[in-house]
Amino acid sequence: MTATSTEAPDPKNDLAQGLCEVMAAIDRRGWCDGTGGNFSCVLRRQPLALLMAPSGVEKGGLKPCDLIVVNGKAEVIEGKGRASAETLLHLAIVAQREAGAVLHTHSQAATLLSRLANFKGDPLEAEGWQLTIKGLEMLKGLQGIDSHEQQIAIPVLPNDQDLARLSQRAMGPLIEAPFGILISGHGLYAWGDDLTMAKRHLEILEFLLEQHWRELLLRNLGNGMVTTT
Ligand SMILES: [Zn+2]
Repeated sequence: MTATSTEAPDPKNDLAQGLCEVMAAIDRRGWCDGTGGNFSCVLRRQPLALLMAPSGVEKGGLKPCDLIVVNGKAEVIEGKGRASAETLLHLAIVAQREAGAVLHTHSQAATLLSRLANFKGDPLEAEGWQLTIKGLEMLKGLQGIDSHEQQIAIPVLPNDQDLARLSQRAMGPLIEAPFGILISGHGLYAWGDDLTMAKRHLEILEFLLEQHWRELLLRNLGNGMVTTT
């Protein structure tokens, strides 16, 4: 006869399982090739602890036991492995937007478009870079948007290997960011109130970015055809 367990389920296990499934799905989309990208969920807020993938490993095949827990200073407090230097940016997004999960991809579309963003104001003021998108039904997948006519402006920050400086620079643009921010030549950070919303926002933003570069390409091809005939 099998003894019935009276232990309460551990919410960390469910969160870890969910995060691994999301990372596997993102990997299948080709948004974190190699050891690219990083992914985190808020495990608790007081004191702050993030459940996240360790640095320098392929994210698609991770199991819950492979994950690490990181404190509010980006120090590993549970599990084996290093915390990514980009943990500081995850922490900045959690702090500034009260995000429950942060998903960071190195997709083709995000990397490409982050280098083509229009300047707003002085191009030397990196905080002024943004990528605007409007006119697409899929915009409505972002929380708070109910019409394709609404425009979003995704902030674009210059890449920086000094993550403390990059995170500090991100704090201002994060306030108005539409659940996503681009790092130039690097990738996309998307977030949401919980893992489900973060995944939804990531998928929507990746769709919008894909759509945007394809549209730019077709328009330019069209222009080329006009000038050569
Ligand atoms: Zn990265």
